[in-house]
Amino acid sequence: MAESAELVVVGAGASGCMAAIAAAEGTGRRVLLLEGGPRPAAKIYATGNGRCNLTNLVQTAACYHCRPEERSLADSVLNGWPNDAMMDFFSERGVLLHDRDGYVYPRTDQASTVAACLLRELDRLQVEVRTGEKVRSLCLRTERSGIRTFLLQTGRNTYEAQSVILACGGLAGPQYGCDGSGYRLAASLGHTVREPLPALVPLRCRPSEGTSQAAGIRCIAEVRLLIDGREAGRETGEILFTDYGLSGIPVLQISGMAAGALREQRQVELCLDLLSGISEQNWEQECARRLETAEQNGRSTLGDWLLGLCPDRLQALVLGSRGLVREKKVYKTGSYLLPEILRDLRSFRMEVTGTQGPDRAQTTAGGIPLAEVSEEMSSRLVPGLWLTGEMLDVDGICGGYNLRWAFTTGRTAGRAAASALTGQEGNA
Ligand SMILES: Cc1cc2nc3c(=O)[nH]c(=O)nc-3n(C[C@H](O)[C@H](O)[C@H](O)COP(=O)(O)OP(=O)(O)OC[C@H]3O[C@@H](n4cnc5c(N)ncnc54)[C@H](O)[C@@H]3O)c2cc1C
Repeated sequence: MAESAELVVVGAGASGCMAAIAAAEGTGRRVLLLEGGPRPAAKIYATGNGRCNLTNLVQTAACYHCRPEERSLADSVLNGWPNDAMMDFFSERGVLLHDRDGYVYPRTDQASTVAACLLRELDRLQVEVRTGEKVRSLCLRTERSGIRTFLLQTGRNTYEAQSVILACGGLAGPQYGCDGSGYRLAASLGHTVREPLPALVPLRCRPSEGTSQAAGIRCIAEVRLLIDGREAGRETGEILFTDYGLSGIPVLQISGMAAGALREQRQVELCLDLLSGISEQNWEQECARRLETAEQNGRSTLGDWLLGLCPDRLQALVLGSRGLVREKKVYKTGSYLLPEILRDLRSFRMEVTGTQGPDRAQTTAGGIPLAEVSEEMSSRLVPGLWLTGEMLDVDGICGGYNLRWAFTTGRTAGRAAASALTGQEGNA
C-alpha cells in the first residue's frame, strides 16, 4: 500500500533540505523528505574543508557556468532570492556569518553549524525526514478522476505524491550518496540529460622525471590552460603537486573546461608560471645575474644555481623534464640550456591526461538543461515536478557559488511547489 504525501522531496542535500524548509514554512503542507543515505545533509559537513563556504560576496555572471542561451534564466533564478536574502536566512536563524576575501563562512568556521541549522529547521517545521530511502523509480499514474499522482519506489516503500521535487545532486561525491540516480529519475519522465562530467576536480597529468618527488609541494603559480596550444583560461593561486598531477583552487577552476576538451579528444596542457608575481624587469635582472655567475664556481651544481627560486623538489621536477638532475655541475651543463631552464620556471608545461574521478570532484558540469525548467524551477515537461541544485546544467566556480545555487534553487522550488499544490489550502 502506497503511503501518500502532498509533496515529496527526493534528496536531503543542500537544495533538498532548503526546498523542504521553504515548502513547509508558513504553508502547513505535509512534506516528506526522502534521503538515500544514512543521514541527511551529509555532504554539507564536508564542504569548504569542513568550514562550509556557503556563498560569496562577489556575484557576477562569470561565477556560474551555463550555456549562453540559458544565461538569462540562470540570472533570473539567482536574482529571485538575492545573495543578501540568502545570508539573512542563516543569520536570522542564529548562524552568524563572516567572510575572507568575499568567501562567506559561518562565523564558527564549522560546516556542522550550517547542517545543524537546516536540520533544526526541518524538525521545527515537522518535515518528516526518512533516511535509507533511495528512490529507485519515479512514474506518473493517472487516476480514474483524471488526477495525476507520482509514484515513488524505494527499496522498502512505495510513496504517492501530488508534487515531487528532485534534489538528488549530480555525480560529484558518490561517497555522500550522489551517484547520478537523479538524472535517471528525471530522464524516465522525459527530461534530457547533457553528459555529466566531474568539475572542480584535480587534473591528472603525464608523469615525468621528478613527478613523484614533487608530490606534496604547494606553491603560488599562475596556471594557463592550453587547448590545442591556445590559451583557454588563466588562474592564479596556490597549486598542489600530487603523485597523479595537480590540484589546488586555480586547477579546480579550469578543470571543467579541461574535462570538456578532453572529452572532445583535444590536446590539453597546463602552462605554469612557478614564479608568478615577479615583475618582468626584476626577472630579467635576476636571470642576467644568475647567468653571469653560473660557471664561476666549478663545484656549483644546478641545485645551487637555482637556490632561492623554488623548493628543491620543484627544481627536480623542472630539471627532470629536460633529463637533468639537481646534482649536475653547472659547468658540465650546456650553456645554451641555462636560459631555457630559467624560462621553464615561468612556463612549465604539463600534459593533462584526464581528471580525477567523481569522488574527488566538488560539482558536476552537464545535467538537465536549465531550459527544461521555469524560473520557479518547475519542469516544463512534467507538471508537478520540480528540479533543483546540481542536477541542473549550471555549475559554479570555487568560492561558495555551488551552495548558493543549491540553496537558491531549493528555496525557489520549495516555495513555488507548496503554493502550486492543488486541493485544500494549507492550514497555516
Ligand atoms: C568535498 C566537497 C566540498 C565542497 N565544498 C563546497 C563549498 O565550500 N562551497 C560550495 O559552494 N560548494 C561546495 N561543494 C559543492 C556543493 O556541496 C554542491 O554543489 C551542493 O551540495 C549541491 O547541492 P544539491 O542539493 O544539488 O546536491 P547534494 O548536496 O549533493 O545532495 C543530494 C542528496 O540527494 C541524495 N540522493 C541522491 N540520489 C537519491 C535518490 N535516488 N533517492 C534519495 N536520495 C538521493 C544524496 O544522498 C544527497 O544527500 C563541495 C562539494 C564537495 C563534494
